[in-house]
Parts: sequence; C-alpha cells; structure tokens
Amino acid sequence: MNDKIAVFPGSFSPFTLGHQYVINRAMALFDKIIIAVGSNSSKEYYFTEEQRIQWMEDIFKDEPKVEIRKYEGLTVDFCKSIGANFILRGLRNSKDFNYEKEIAQVNQTLNEEIETIFIITSSEYSHISSTLVREVAKNGGDISKFVPKGIKI
Ligand code: ADP
Repeated sequence: MNDKIAVFPGSFSPFTLGHQYVINRAMALFDKIIIAVGSNSSKEYYFTEEQRIQWMEDIFKDEPKVEIRKYEGLTVDFCKSIGANFILRGLRNSKDFNYEKEIAQVNQTLNEEIETIFIITSSEYSHISSTLVREVAKNGGDISKFVPKGIKI
C-alpha cells in the first residue's frame, strides 16, 4: 500500500489553534501531512513567508508525520509532484463550506485522482481566523489565546 500523504495548503499568516486542531485530527488518517505554504504575489500576508514557516517548523519539530513546504502554482500540481493524493482543509461554518466546496470542485476537475478531505473544527476554535489574529496583533492585543504557544509577536 502506498503511504497516504495529505497536503494542507494555506497562507498560515499566522498558524492558529484552528489549523493545529485540523492537523491533530488528520494525524490519525494520514501517514504524512505536508503543510504547504502557497505564495500569491497579489496577497498581503503581514508576516513574512520565512517567519510563518519558522513558526510551524518549531511547532512540529517533534512530529515526524508533519512537514512544512512552500509552493507556487496550482495546489493539485504540487500534490502530484510530491505523490500526495489528498488535500486537507478545515471547515468552521457554512461560509467556509460554500467557499471550500468551489475550490474542491475545481481541484476535482483539474485532477480527479486527488480527493479533498474536510475536518470540521471544534466549536471552541470556530471563531478563530488568521485575519482576526492579524488585526489583534496590528493593534497591540494579546494573541496568545488564538495561536500555539511557540508563536510570539
Ligand atoms: P487560505 O489563505 O487558503 O484561506 P488559511 O491559512 O487561512 O488559508 O487557511 C487554511 C485552511 O485552514 C482553510 O481550509 C481554512 O478553512 C482552515 N482554517 C482556518 N482557520 C480555521 C479554524 N479556526 N478551524 C478550522 N479550520 C480553519
């Protein structure tokens, strides 16, 4: 049997407790989870790519199943290049569902061998978004309740 490899694509600006929950739950399903930091030149990330990757490297340094990579271009092409057959995404609410459904269907059309798997977040994390954390950080607030311990801004 081939290893089950999942790609968890996103900006992770920054990585939050919500993202961590999704990975922890998915750990039981996959042999390997690649956190894939996509770069999109038209997007403002606030935190540098280097910083975002460093935080995640620290958080998962003792977890051999999790790897951090960056990629450009289509997520399905990145998956193919590393032999991953699954895309992992998280769902907080119906707004996420509607948005994620479209992405998943486009990806299905682009490569039908790759399956998108969704993890529903726990209610304690469903209000957490990277956008919100950035807003709190920009305004000098305490972000420690929204992000894993290793992340200090
Ligand atoms: P993108 O830039 O692609 O939206 P994000 O880094 O914001 O990437 O999110 C990556 C994935 O994590 C998405 O599937 C998003 O729905 C999911 N996600 C974000 N926050 C949470 C959360 N609090 N609980 C569960 N999933 C989440």
